[in-house]
Amino acid sequence: MQVEGGRNTAERSRWLDRVQPSALAVPDSGIVEIFNYGRNREGVIPLWVGESDQPTPSFISAAAIRSLEAGETFYTYQRGIPALREAIARDMTALYGPREAFSPERFFVTIGGMHALQIAMRIVGGPGDEFLVPTPAWPNFGGAIMALGARVVETPMRLGSGVHPRWSLDMAALEAAVNPATRAIVINSPSNPLGWTATLEELEAVLRFARRHGLWIIADEIYGRFTFDAVRAPSFHDIMAADDLILFPQTFSKNWAMTGWRIGWLEAPEALGQLIENLVQYSTSGVAVPSQRAALAAIEGGADFVAEQVRRARQNRDMLCAAFEATGRMRFAAPDGGFYLFCGIEGYPDARRLAFRLVDEAGIGAAPGDAFGAAGAGSLRLCFARSPAQIAEVADRLTTWVARNA
Ligand code: PMP
Repeated sequence: MQVEGGRNTAERSRWLDRVQPSALAVPDSGIVEIFNYGRNREGVIPLWVGESDQPTPSFISAAAIRSLEAGETFYTYQRGIPALREAIARDMTALYGPREAFSPERFFVTIGGMHALQIAMRIVGGPGDEFLVPTPAWPNFGGAIMALGARVVETPMRLGSGVHPRWSLDMAALEAAVNPATRAIVINSPSNPLGWTATLEELEAVLRFARRHGLWIIADEIYGRFTFDAVRAPSFHDIMAADDLILFPQTFSKNWAMTGWRIGWLEAPEALGQLIENLVQYSTSGVAVPSQRAALAAIEGGADFVAEQVRRARQNRDMLCAAFEATGRMRFAAPDGGFYLFCGIEGYPDARRLAFRLVDEAGIGAAPGDAFGAAGAGSLRLCFARSPAQIAEVADRLTTWVARNA
């Protein structure tokens, strides 16, 4: 075994020696490790990955099938088909009005939110530049920044105290982190993994900060419709001026249960249109038309589906928070939005070990908080976009485990 391992190591380093440092810097995902450990365990309730348990509604899939049958199998517009860009503009106007209608020219269809994010980052930074990322944060922000050869500067968010604590941005830490290499700040609200939803005042503080330092804001508001006390979360759209440096990655993945379709969009100033078209051309060369037809059906006819998903998320949030609070031994801020609960269990500071134990002993698949940055150490992320019956079972299993392991 030793010899075999040695040979593999030598073989690996022979190849890795020839790889670009920025590609080598890209970290492994801390979520995948636990997912691989437990994915085939019978009876484990999987809460580690950020997606709904619902398949895409059939009226959405049917639009893609019709498109394929109609022979829409050719290259297409780099920016996305006009009908979809118009529908996105209408939908955004309905959700973020009343204000000037959004022009379809602001919207660029991409291969999921991830590709939109990658293009946004590519526009604002490169090797040697720094991006500010308040953490705990979705690990793909850091991964995409590192893949550019740029640096991630984590600024820990603060968790308040008391029975019902809240996360907040540490503006002083952000100020202290700015230097001539800083290009952008990534703000994800509602947050994956925290469920923290920025208030308008918090967004205003970030906007003032970004204006003062001439920074871009990458505003990831993909969970904007998953809010529990309003139709949508506060948004930079509510406060921005036309010349503010803000890019919005977006996705069809979560609202319409389309994670596997890989379709999203980037919202950006019209003046960047040709540049974004070029970046699409030289990365993916566009998005499959049948996927775009499906997305069009989703955005035009999917309001009831989204409302039901949000209702379910609220019910699940309430159920988990009530059960966890009753243990008296779990530390968390009740999420205002999104579909994640970020929590720690008193006496269990090693979240990676805890996550492995919960697979084995409680049949629960949670993502370890360390995967979301140093500020996530000691916590777990649970995705609750599942059936309320399953979430009730999770609440039962976890509280029983906590009681047994007090
Ligand atoms: N932003 C955030 C905060 C996310 O959680 C995700 C998905 N986990 C995305 C962007 C990207 O989604 P996708 O690439 O699946 O469209």
